Order: sequence, then structure tokens, then C-alpha cells
Amino acid sequence: AASVTFEHVTKTYPGATTPAVNDISLAIEAGRLVTLLGPSGCGKTTTLRMIAGLEMPSSGRILIGGDDVTRLPATDRDVSMVFQSYALFPHMTVMENVSYGLRFSGHDKKEAASRARAGLELVGLTGFEARLPSELSGGQQQRVAVARALVLEPQVLLFDEPLSNLDAKLRRHVREEIREIQTKLGLTVVYVTHDQEEALAVSDRIIVMNRAVVAQDGTPRELYDAP
Ligand code: ADP
Ligand code: ADP
Repeated sequence: AASVTFEHVTKTYPGATTPAVNDISLAIEAGRLVTLLGPSGCGKTTTLRMIAGLEMPSSGRILIGGDDVTRLPATDRDVSMVFQSYALFPHMTVMENVSYGLRFSGHDKKEAASRARAGLELVGLTGFEARLPSELSGGQQQRVAVARALVLEPQVLLFDEPLSNLDAKLRRHVREEIREIQTKLGLTVVYVTHDQEEALAVSDRIIVMNRAVVAQDGTPRELYDAP
């Protein structure tokens, strides 16, 4: 797990008149789950995508584990992202979906399979290896996506509204599972949501964004007097 640092990061999309992210400085400690919370359009996803290397800042610096990654492309960063649409390969089994990235990054078939099995066990999907995504519920598909990201053992794990396609009961279940795994493995997680209840339930720390800037930053207790 690695820390994530933003130094005066600004992102203005081509053609936009105002920045999507405006002069943000942050220090996210290694091994913590930090949420970016705020209304639609405030810049959360842009912030996350800059950590992933899917967007480049217009100015400022981004460091992961103390290394300057500002200009590094996504493929050269040790970061995995879980999307709100699970983005599983529909024609591949659960096992193939979870081991695909491992095979791609050079692990042999046996090693990839054994790590994939361990990942599936972490998300409670042992026994589902041979299923296709279409044979799974939405919650199970998202857990496959979580396993796929976990098995790569990234320095930082990113979640972009991971629960928004799930019903209320499943949302609670999956978010508790994500939190449990994060704590158990000591992962650095940056988690985007617009749902305050969700942020309160999972976070060590909440960064509240509003109109491209950080409006508040603190623990759930500091910000909302939560337990
Ligand atoms: P949030 O995740 O909080 O909803 P975003 O980071 O997606 O916010 O968006 C912040 C601002 O940047 C919004 O005004 C949005 O319309 C704009 N934006 C996001 N992505 C792009 C893009 N690819 N091109 C142009 N503008 C974008
Ligand atoms: P991650 O390592 O974060 O899980 P992937 O390497 O699986 O991400 O995906 C990289 C890109 O490919 C993402 O933009 C994702 O949306 C896209 N992608 C992944 N799976 C599929 C799929 N089954 N169909 C279409 N696009 C996909």
C-alpha cells in the first residue's frame, strides 16, 4: 500500500471555461480508506482518474508512495480501479475474468489461477469460478470486479461509485465487505461517492469536494459527529 499526494493539482478539460479540479492539495496516508464525497459535477471522478493516470493534470504534481507519477500513463502505475459498471468480459468465466490481468502482467497460468482463487475467496465467491457474468447477480458481478482489482495487489485501489448499480440491501452488504477486505489487507483505497451515509459507513477519512475544490477534510467523527 502506498500514500497518495496531490500538490496544487488543477485540471481543466479542453474547451472548458472553468477547471474541473482547482488547485487541490491532499495527502492520503497509506493503508487508509478515504472517500471523496460531494455532489455530481464537483470533480470527484476527475480526481480519481488523475490518480489512475486516466487523466493528466493541467498543472501541479501527483505522487504515489513518494514517487512523482504526474506524467506516467495509467499502464505504468501500480493502481487498480473498480468502476460502477463492473466491466467484466461477458464471454469469459469468473475465473478467466479475475486471472486475465494477472496473465497479462506476466504471471504463469498456475500462479494466476491460485491468486485468482484466493481473490474469489476474499469476496465470498468460491465455487463460482466456472460461471459467466450473466449467470451472476449484480452484487456478485461487482464482487468479481473487486476480486479482479485485488489480485493485482495494487499500491492503491480506486473505487468509482462502486455500489450505484446495486439495490439498497446489497449496497450495504458489499460496502461492508469492501471495508472488511481493506482493513484486513491494509490497502490504500480512494473511494468516490455522492452518498453521505455510504461515506460515513466506510471511511477513515472523508474529503468533501464542492465546485472543484476541497470544502472539508476530516474523520467521520470530526465532520459529522459520527461514531
Ligand atoms: P463528479 O465525479 O464529482 O460528478 P467530474 O469529475 O465527473 O465530477 O466532473 C467535474 C466537471 O468536469 C463537470 O463539470 C464535468 O461536466 C466536467 N467533465 C468531466 N469529464 C469531462 C470530460 N471528459 N470532458 C469535459 N468535461 C468533463
Ligand atoms: P482494472 O484493472 O481497473 O479492473 P481493466 O484493465 O479491467 O481495469 O479495464 C481497463 C479498461 O478496459 C477500462 O476502461 C474498462 O472500462 C475497460 N474494460 C474492461 N473490461 C471491459 C469489457 N468487458 N468490455 C469493455 N471494456 C472493458
